[in-house]
Amino acid sequence: MKPLRLLKPAAGIDGAAASRRSRAVAGLAFILAATVFWVDAFTTIESAIAVLYVIVLLLSAEALTTRGIWLTTAACLLLTLSAYVIGHGLAYDLPALLRLAVSLAALFITRALIFRNDMFRTELLASNAALSDSERRYRSIFEESRVALWERDYSAVRTLLMRLKSSGIVHLKQHMTRHPEVIQDCINLIRTVAANEAARTLFGDLTADLGELPMRRYLTPDDATFIDLLAAIFEEHAHFEGKGHLITSDGQKRLVLISMSFPEDRSAFNRIIVGMVDITAREMTQKALLEAQAELTRASRAATVGALSASLAHELNQPLAALVLNAQTMLRWINRETPDLEAVRRSAERMIRDSQRASDIIHNTRSMLSHELRAPEPVNLPDLIAETKALMEHDLNREGVTFEAHCAQAADTVDAVRIELQQVLINLITNGIQAMSSTDIADRRLLVSTQRRDDGFISICVRDFGPGIGEDVMPKLFAPFFTTKPTGMGMGLSICRSTMEARGGELLARNHQDGGAVFDMLIPTQEAARG
Ligand code: ADP
Repeated sequence: MKPLRLLKPAAGIDGAAASRRSRAVAGLAFILAATVFWVDAFTTIESAIAVLYVIVLLLSAEALTTRGIWLTTAACLLLTLSAYVIGHGLAYDLPALLRLAVSLAALFITRALIFRNDMFRTELLASNAALSDSERRYRSIFEESRVALWERDYSAVRTLLMRLKSSGIVHLKQHMTRHPEVIQDCINLIRTVAANEAARTLFGDLTADLGELPMRRYLTPDDATFIDLLAAIFEEHAHFEGKGHLITSDGQKRLVLISMSFPEDRSAFNRIIVGMVDITAREMTQKALLEAQAELTRASRAATVGALSASLAHELNQPLAALVLNAQTMLRWINRETPDLEAVRRSAERMIRDSQRASDIIHNTRSMLSHELRAPEPVNLPDLIAETKALMEHDLNREGVTFEAHCAQAADTVDAVRIELQQVLINLITNGIQAMSSTDIADRRLLVSTQRRDDGFISICVRDFGPGIGEDVMPKLFAPFFTTKPTGMGMGLSICRSTMEARGGELLARNHQDGGAVFDMLIPTQEAARG
């Protein structure tokens, strides 16, 4: 069973003294009760002496628990009634009965008042506890926050700004340009009440009395953010956010993000919380990143120009070589004793054709660079292959290579850009010729065939009978500037693949089971595009 606790529990550091005091008060109440009872029961004083039990009750309210007060009330009632019976018996005595009623009423009323008082006190204590709890929470958030927090008194600044407003000033910033001393006045009026650990770390030594710490010590003169902040107070905004520079105690300039809220209640302007985040490092990183990006753009532009020159040099090589060759042939025909004008005419025609091709290559490369792709048009593949063979005649003859073409009927026309297909074809044929010239095989043949594939693509297949593509070469085959040739540029296959892919096609390489390399140019048809 729980012990019946009647004395108020003592709390706090003075617990023992409080408990001694409660015991003394309870003892006093007991003596008073006994005295009142004795006077009431055994003397002939004709008055409502029992009313004095009210004092007993009030004393008990000081020293006893609620249960103790209830017991005291019951005891006082019992003593009042007993004293009445002892003093007057059970005989009817109206004045005595009235006195009894007054005493009992006084006891009841006092008990009710004590009860109400207790309730108010409990409520007050609870709200006080909640208040100090929230104050403690606020303090711990303030102190432990990793954001630099300041508690500042802006009330005087607000009063000054509002005075300016009521004097008819509408544009604060304009006014401040004419009267810069107002900014200084505002700076001097702001008082720092508290700063948390993060603020101390950010600004260095803040051991000086915060109230005395002048704002001017960490504000740069003509600070635009500070003027924006004053304008926000002037225009009665609910909050302010800005980026500004501050000077730390060791004189360093830091870039901070400032954020603060203004209360609706103007009297609360004496406790404004200002949050600051140091973004100096972030801003510097961002600046470095932007510079690196600009550098990269410059470098990639330079690389594009480089790749373009390499591509042009590579692609123009063949038509220019052909031009020189035809010009030499033409000279030979002219220098004969009897010039063969018909042969001269053929050479001149070939020279015109080669020049046209060179000009087409330049035009196409330029439009690829400006992302203006030429529109595809129907290209007859057997014609294209025959024409390409004619262009390569000299190279084929020189290396003793036989050229064979097998064109499937179902694949005689594609929608493509003729010059592009021809360039790829010339590259593949040149590579094939070069691959075979590096070996001493007798069967030097180049097979070019076309076919319509099941997946809707039309393929032009170029097969040679050279050594094939080495296992180590295969993964790097299409990489720009990859070459195994002493005077090679390594741009041909890379350009060919991009040319095919830019039109939705593909360029694949493999080795033939019977030897030699095979390159498949895949050209999309409308079915492939739908598929
Ligand atoms: P380049 O001809 O200037 O070397 P390419 O991009 O055209 O540049 O070719 C890259 C490399 O691919 C060549 O150096 C060669 O090693 C390999 N290669 C290309 N075509 C063939 C082929 N038909 N047979 C074997 N290897 C080839």
